[in-house]
Amino acid sequence: MRERLAGPISVDEVLGLVRIEDPHLKARAVVLGHKVKVSTLRLQSFKLHGTACVTCGIAGAAFFVERTNQETPHLNLYTADNILMTRDHIVATADGGLDTIENSQTMCFPCNCAKDSKAHIRKCEEMDKKQGECK
Ligand SMILES: [Zn+2]
Repeated sequence: MRERLAGPISVDEVLGLVRIEDPHLKARAVVLGHKVKVSTLRLQSFKLHGTACVTCGIAGAAFFVERTNQETPHLNLYTADNILMTRDHIVATADGGLDTIENSQTMCFPCNCAKDSKAHIRKCEEMDKKQGECK
């Protein structure tokens, strides 16, 4: 179950905190009282590639600090209609794509779910179980 802890926080404010560096360095910042990672590939991809879905064009409008099942709080980006924005692998990792910023693009959750790839369907099923939001 996903729990919303704080927000909204403007896209500009969050992207201003995002560090373009090795995600393994685990850079963090305090946002509205919550310590969150700010150099994940997902956040770097939003900063470098923009917040609009490459497939349907809808764009992220605000970030929220959220956590799922008592995990560490993290930043999630949503559209004005509360659609979650995700990082998509251009070439699926199951097809040999690398987990790098160059192989990343911004995609909304429904388009990511619909992407015609077994790897994505699998990923969606996992996310579905975890978040209960895949449509
Ligand atoms: Zn989309």
